[in-house]
Amino acid sequence: NRDRILQSERLNVVSELAASVSHEIRNPLTVTSGFLQLLNKSKNITQSEKGFIELSLQELKRAEKIVSDYLSFAKPQSENMVYSNMSEEVEYTKNIIMPYASIHKVEVIFSFNNSLKKHYDRNQIQQCLINLYKNGIEAMKDNGGGILYIEISERKQHIIISIRDTGIGMTREEISRLGKPYYSTKEEGTGLGMLMVYSTINKVKGTIEVDSEKGKGTTFLISIPT
Ligand code: ADP
Ligand code: MG
Repeated sequence: NRDRILQSERLNVVSELAASVSHEIRNPLTVTSGFLQLLNKSKNITQSEKGFIELSLQELKRAEKIVSDYLSFAKPQSENMVYSNMSEEVEYTKNIIMPYASIHKVEVIFSFNNSLKKHYDRNQIQQCLINLYKNGIEAMKDNGGGILYIEISERKQHIIISIRDTGIGMTREEISRLGKPYYSTKEEGTGLGMLMVYSTINKVKGTIEVDSEKGKGTTFLISIPT
């Protein structure tokens, strides 16, 4: 029990940190890459200097990707607190992810049946859902596509969100590593998405159940008390 308390405190620190990091880091990234692009156009630099600049620009782009993929919704708290219906966020983020789904030949099937209201941080919940949808789509994209099922319902004063994909699935061992910082099996992965997911669901005192089978697909079942 004590372990669990410590764990949840640590998760909260991580997400607060994420919010401020994303805020503070965007500007310097933009400014630096702007100047490097200018420098890159100079006639007074050698070919190898040009190579260094291009490498730097590439690395900055990667940092920018981490910020925008995982932290852009995590603006400083409180101002984003709402008392609302989570199915709004589920549907809103589903629409955001649609173009990403289509280019990877993923069909999205969405259903909702939920009217329970709750206090929550809108941006964090949206970011969390996007991370889960993205992972689902990415688990199917190399198999030529598939179906992403998104469902929100309610059961005994709990909001239940289920996200299921027909993708590559995970072994028990892989499931146990979910949410560890920087754990990623993707070439361009950051390994921060699930960390953000666990930390957000933890904050609203919810639980996440993962059911996965290698080669078949994965279901994330999130239960949040109201
Ligand atoms: P990233 O997506 O950048 O790799 P995440 O933290 O979002 O980082 O996910 C960590 C890892 O968990 C992924 O690299 C992948 O191996 C695994 N994973 C997460 N979601 C799924 C899923 N729906 N199906 C299969 N594997 C998944
Ligand atoms: Mg991810």
